[in-house]
Amino acid sequence: MASLIDGKKIAKRLTHEVAADVIDFVEQTGTRPTLAVVLLGDDPASCVYVARKLAACREIGITSVEHRLPSTTSQFGLFSLIDQLNSDPAVHGILVQLPLPHGLDPSTILDRIDPRKDVDGFHPVNFGRLSSGTDALVPCTPLGCMMLLESVVHNFKGLHAVVIGKSNIVGKPISLLLLERACTVTITHKLTRNLPDITRSAEIVVVAAGHPELVKGNWIKANAVVVDVGISRVSGPDGRPRLVGDCARQELSHARAITPVPGGVGPMTVACLLANTVRAALKQHRAQPTLRRA
Ligand code: NAD
Repeated sequence: MASLIDGKKIAKRLTHEVAADVIDFVEQTGTRPTLAVVLLGDDPASCVYVARKLAACREIGITSVEHRLPSTTSQFGLFSLIDQLNSDPAVHGILVQLPLPHGLDPSTILDRIDPRKDVDGFHPVNFGRLSSGTDALVPCTPLGCMMLLESVVHNFKGLHAVVIGKSNIVGKPISLLLLERACTVTITHKLTRNLPDITRSAEIVVVAAGHPELVKGNWIKANAVVVDVGISRVSGPDGRPRLVGDCARQELSHARAITPVPGGVGPMTVACLLANTVRAALKQHRAQPTLRRA
């Protein structure tokens, strides 16, 4: 029977470690790590995500400041807020909640954030650093996926890892992280041919397609480790909505380990945002790397 990788437990442990780092940071610098969260409009899902992130910061003593702007905000208006946050030494991290309202180009907006404050790790400078294996702020979801994998895989060298999905926020960065650990990585997407044959040869499968229960039992070889990033709301047999991942989990009992949905990758994403905020704060203060997760 495949073991479940408990994302809630691992995220809780990471959050405790980051909370200890916050205490050390305050002692060393006399300031608190501070995250600015920018939310445009009132998309209900975005409001929930932002509220969760702000609450998580509060719980461990990271100062979080919410900047709510109307959905009609122009690119110029958003740039001027980002510029102000970039130049404010009291702000260590900046997060612009996606998706942005229609008419605003996310990549132009994200490129405006100071890469040192880019706690989402989406800036091209951080992506470039990740690609070259140098010190980057790594996007939270792939960073969390790696930590989940590390909880069950002790030697990544030479393992075949198949990543399903090539998005900039999950598929590409997790592929780079796996490559950095010396896996042989195959990146696949919706036009990939013979996907089941490709995944069947993998020891590690990370699926981030947003396609409910795409990965069937006969796509996965025995003892593979599977990280299911996808999260979709579908109608259950009783007509009630339920959350499902990109894997038909009940068919994957022959895998070695798999992340559940919910309770797998999701909790890690928020915990990694906290970790990235403290990391960004530390780098900006050029503190000696004596903190536990520096
Ligand atoms: P995206 O839509 O940007 O990218 C999806 C990728 O999957 C694309 O590269 C596409 O080619 C590929 N794909 C789609 N259908 C496919 C198929 N049938 N076969 C093979 N490849 C296919 O999505 P994203 O932002 O990378 O997110 C992917 C999923 O992960 C979504 O369900 C999203 O909600 C979830 N997600 C979860 C978290 C979390 O914290 N738990 C964070 C980010 C994304």
